[in-house]
Amino acid sequence: MTSIKVIGGGLAGAEASYQLAERGHKVTLFEMRPKVETKAHQTGDLAELVCSNSLRSADVTNGAGLLKEELRRCDSLIIRMADLHRVPAGGALAVDRLGFSRGVTEAIEKHPNIEIIREEIKEIPQEGYVIVASGPLTEGALAESIQELCSEDYFHFFDAAAPVVTLESVNMDKAWWASRYDKGDADYINCPLNQEEYEALVAFLIQAEKHKPEIEGEEQYFEGCMPVEEMARRGAQTLSFGPLKPVGLVNPHTGKEEHAVVQLRIDNKERTLFNLVGFQTSLTFGEQKKMMALIPGLENAEIVRYGVMHQNSYIKSPLLLNPDGSMKNHERIYFAGQITGVEGYIESTASGLVAGVNLARILDGDEPVCFPKTTAIGGLMGYITEAEAKDFQPMHINWGLIPKMMPKIRKKKLRNEALAKRALEDMDNFLQENRIRG
Ligand SMILES: Cc1cc2nc3c(=O)[nH]c(=O)nc-3n(C[C@H](O)[C@H](O)[C@H](O)COP(=O)(O)OP(=O)(O)OC[C@H]3O[C@@H](n4cnc5c(N)ncnc54)[C@H](O)[C@@H]3O)c2cc1C
Repeated sequence: MTSIKVIGGGLAGAEASYQLAERGHKVTLFEMRPKVETKAHQTGDLAELVCSNSLRSADVTNGAGLLKEELRRCDSLIIRMADLHRVPAGGALAVDRLGFSRGVTEAIEKHPNIEIIREEIKEIPQEGYVIVASGPLTEGALAESIQELCSEDYFHFFDAAAPVVTLESVNMDKAWWASRYDKGDADYINCPLNQEEYEALVAFLIQAEKHKPEIEGEEQYFEGCMPVEEMARRGAQTLSFGPLKPVGLVNPHTGKEEHAVVQLRIDNKERTLFNLVGFQTSLTFGEQKKMMALIPGLENAEIVRYGVMHQNSYIKSPLLLNPDGSMKNHERIYFAGQITGVEGYIESTASGLVAGVNLARILDGDEPVCFPKTTAIGGLMGYITEAEAKDFQPMHINWGLIPKMMPKIRKKKLRNEALAKRALEDMDNFLQENRIRG
């Protein structure tokens, strides 16, 4: 009998185990809690929600809502339990936290094909199939073993990310394309600030409210990579001589060099998403919105990923993983969940589902499958396996990860409705063609 070991009974590990077990495969799921604790979990239950009890929007014209609907159609255990333990939360799918994780735990415990072993895994097993789903707080001996497997440079312990915005929401009547000193192609978007605007931005950053660290002691990780608000605090000109330096950038709208320039760098292969260079930040999400409004060209920018600075262990998936979740260099080892560079409860669930479904297919003698790029699951897996590896950062589901429709629909609401309709049709066809559902 083929051995399948899943490391970690979080959202991804529970989903992956369930998908395999439902397809008739015997799974051993290792979960170290409650014997060994993490820095964030509070219980011994599987699939514990470590912070918010919301799985975000329930509306399919929102990326998070679409992802959940796709998971529902794929018979996801996590979404089934979330629906079962839903609590009123307006347009969001929020759950009774304890009831939800208890429900997942019971479903896994009573599954005849799953054995749960409450034990810490200290190294990647040398034999058999393995799904590593140990989450963003992976550390200790297992982290060292993963580091060895992936090579040191490809395993990060800290996520210091700047906000990411959609290209279509940038006001190009104020911003312009250029590279500094016109070197190479004009790959950056540049947003100009005159002295007054620059000073207002610095003053705002100095007093803006910051996130409280989610994990005690988390701030100690901030040393190597300075948040933009800390740079602002160091002195009035620190930013204009640092990431906002204007030299070598002439504004074609005015014909002159500006007092300061915020640069936006390409964030995905499709060039639909851009990150603010040097703007890694601990500001609250509300304050990040206000900050954007102070940058000419970004007044109405749509933020698809907020800046964060927190502990988050993840691998460099674009170099290491195939779109089915398996490793390029070790076919028997899969990664799933937030450790792959997806970000969020439902994204971690989706990644667990992809790994579980595909490993089951391999064991059944079928080809692994790539979910269609037009779906939220496919877009997410496409991002983590094809993004620019150098600056790879974890990502929530968002419309920028899904190919646009042609001809372009101008109204956002109609556009998102059309994208959601296409995604769900493509998902249904895909599930049927590949005999994936139920
Ligand atoms: C503090 C914090 C707050 C967050 N808040 C939110 C939020 O509000 N909304 C949101 O969408 N996302 C949030 N996230 C991000 C992410 O969605 C969650 O971390 C999510 O739980 C990730 O799912 P996962 O299955 O990858 O990992 P986890 O759910 O963390 O599961 C990993 C499991 O592996 C176990 N494990 C780890 N190491 C070992 C080992 N060596 N041996 C055996 N078992 C092991 C752990 O005990 C854990 O049960 C947060 C993350 C953190 C760290």
